[in-house]
Amino acid sequence: MKDLMGEPSDSYKKLPGYLYILDKTYPGSHITMRKSNENEFLYLFIALYAFIKGFDCCRPIVVVDGSHLKTAYNGTFVSASTLDGAGNILPLAYGVTDSETDRSWTWFFERFREAYGVRENMCIVSDRHESINKAVSRIYPNVLHYACIWNLWGNVCKKYKKSHDVLSPVFYAMAKVYTQEDFDELMGKVEKSDFRVAEYLELAGREKWARVYTTANRGWTMTSNIAECINRHLVASRELPIFDFLEEAEPSIEYLYTVYDAGRRFIVNLDNKTCSCQMFQIDEIPCLHAWAVIKKKNLMADDYCSELFKPDTVVKTYDVAVDTFPDEREWKIPTYISEDVVLPPT
Ligand SMILES: [Zn+2]
Repeated sequence: MKDLMGEPSDSYKKLPGYLYILDKTYPGSHITMRKSNENEFLYLFIALYAFIKGFDCCRPIVVVDGSHLKTAYNGTFVSASTLDGAGNILPLAYGVTDSETDRSWTWFFERFREAYGVRENMCIVSDRHESINKAVSRIYPNVLHYACIWNLWGNVCKKYKKSHDVLSPVFYAMAKVYTQEDFDELMGKVEKSDFRVAEYLELAGREKWARVYTTANRGWTMTSNIAECINRHLVASRELPIFDFLEEAEPSIEYLYTVYDAGRRFIVNLDNKTCSCQMFQIDEIPCLHAWAVIKKKNLMADDYCSELFKPDTVVKTYDVAVDTFPDEREWKIPTYISEDVVLPPT
């Protein structure tokens, strides 16, 4: 992308040839460029076949972001990505548009929908950019759209400078809790400390940022955390911590167990893969309490995880390799492509 965008007008001339070779090298990809009637570059969208196939092996969560390019012609780098079952970031699509407008985001989501369609339980995570909101509701009217909790909190910090140091950990804990009681307790703290912040968060819509209020099918609700993961490159979903504080795991009926954890009692049901702490069913991976039972009973943890977290699925995410792209000297471009005129934007 640096070659493509880093240089002034000359790089635009190369675009048609570059995209043609890209398409020839990676068949099945979705590559689209849009120009104005005066042949000026407008938008570009690239979703390689490898990404499209890989997405089938991942949770249907799409994290969308845009960042300004500091080139001679400005523009915005836009991207969509997800996490594979091991927590690695998988790019889904990227491209370049003009400054973030309704029209460019709509165009991006139209292309995205052409390439990826709509998956069951799909959701989109992004910052609260007005144009993204509009484009998503237009192109994906039935897809849930969540706020990126990092962006949301960033906005709070800008607006209410005083409170943010004290309330940051409270907010992130609140976004991640699994039960309403835990949420209410934390919200109470925020209200006490700064009711304006509480009001702002309520206005943003609890279901948009707090895991316990998300309306998606349970199990698909880690969403807001993904944006955070991508921002921090935090990827440790398979490295579960040790649970030596778990004292006791007592079976009641065949699949039902009581687990005592730090003075609290949790009910684990291995049959329907649930725990009263809620994590087991929402994460689709055994919670600490379920782990305690699985260990004690010498069961296979694999049997209690979502397919998407298993090594085979993670490996399959990358079934289609992205081969090396041919050197420019080796490009064989037909005349009708090389004669295509692309001028820099005005
Ligand atoms: Zn649990």
